[in-house]
Amino acid sequence: MGHIRLNQVSKSFGDVQVIPPLDLTIEDGEFTVFVGPSGCGKSTLLRLIAGLEDITSGHIDIDGADATNVPPAKRGLAMVFQSYALYPHMSVRKNIAFPMKMAGLPEAEQTRRIDNAASALNLTDYLDRRPGQLSGGQRQRVAIGRAIVREPAAFLFDEPLSNLDAALRVGMRLEISELHKRLKTTMVYVTHDQVEAMTMADRIVVLRAGMIEQVGSPLELYHTPRNAFVAGFIGSPK
Ligand code: ADP
Ligand code: MG
Repeated sequence: MGHIRLNQVSKSFGDVQVIPPLDLTIEDGEFTVFVGPSGCGKSTLLRLIAGLEDITSGHIDIDGADATNVPPAKRGLAMVFQSYALYPHMSVRKNIAFPMKMAGLPEAEQTRRIDNAASALNLTDYLDRRPGQLSGGQRQRVAIGRAIVREPAAFLFDEPLSNLDAALRVGMRLEISELHKRLKTTMVYVTHDQVEAMTMADRIVVLRAGMIEQVGSPLELYHTPRNAFVAGFIGSPK
């Protein structure tokens, strides 16, 4: 469950083509990182997969079925944003429950999933607090919890740690990697941070101006970069 295939997918905003037609397969269960400089199209590509932007051409398969015209809520994917997008007036419990409530899940099932997510994310003691009473790292965990309870075919992360300070970022990287090991769910993770890409990814997709420069494991990219751009980008720590 959870492979994603892009077939000649392109995106233009008006006359400007930000993603020329590209092919990409994200394997089931893999932790795939899209990395590249600011403005290279990472978020756009993720939003195309999520269905939050319409593709200009091509098609997208999810789990072997054509998802090109499937609305975002029906794609079985869960997106985690850097801005958390939590509801400030709701408790942590209610924030996490929200997507399940929308989907009409029975209360008992909601409670079971909330308890599991909270214990996986060390949030059990914070369920009755409001987002404003939490640290940045805890807020990010709540956002991840809200994605987990949907039991998605894949998680899509858009720079989820960029609002956190450096020390917290390192801790959250480990937590997300641990979560991937435990859930074994496909994760697509966008970052402009080479260190995050190198330490978290099974496979890295290096993007530049909407084009894929190279796809490979961190070691492959490090040892056999296809060109100077990849070498420079992967080789130079931020
Ligand atoms: P990244 O996430 O890698 O920083 P983005 O995907 O946000 O890059 O942006 C890629 C390009 O697409 C940029 O040139 C950006 O200005 C442009 N772009 C993104 N969203 C829109 C939009 N809604 N309308 C017009 N241009 C956009
Ligand atoms: Mg972005």
